[in-house]
Amino acid sequence: MLPTFANLNQRKIPVDPTCPICKCKRQTILHGLWSCSHLKLVRSEWYQKLAGNHKGKVYFIDFILDCFSRLKKEDLELFCVCLWKVWSLRNDVVHNSINEREIDVVGWASCFIVELHNANSGQNRILVVVTI
Ligand SMILES: [Zn+2]
Repeated sequence: MLPTFANLNQRKIPVDPTCPICKCKRQTILHGLWSCSHLKLVRSEWYQKLAGNHKGKVYFIDFILDCFSRLKKEDLELFCVCLWKVWSLRNDVVHNSINEREIDVVGWASCFIVELHNANSGQNRILVVVTI
């Protein structure tokens, strides 16, 4: 469960449940990671692969399960990294007053995955020798 403002408000924490980015809708998980009007670019990058499946979904669990059933493994990995980056960017706006909403989330996620796979493949491992 992500600590969105709607979730915090529902748990009686005195915060405004409105999305701090668009200031129009409640910041639910689905809104914060996918439906917010400020995420049009991210949604458009995934529109064909997801066949517009987000429309009509109310709960994030329904949305993500549908995504899991539609995406290939490599696309699913990229999709999850994109959602992680979207959440990170939102946290930067809320907690650090850093606004990088214009960032190419899908491009960033693609580079991140390549770097991650390279790091895990052993090509860039650093050998540390400890002598006693
Ligand atoms: Zn919003």
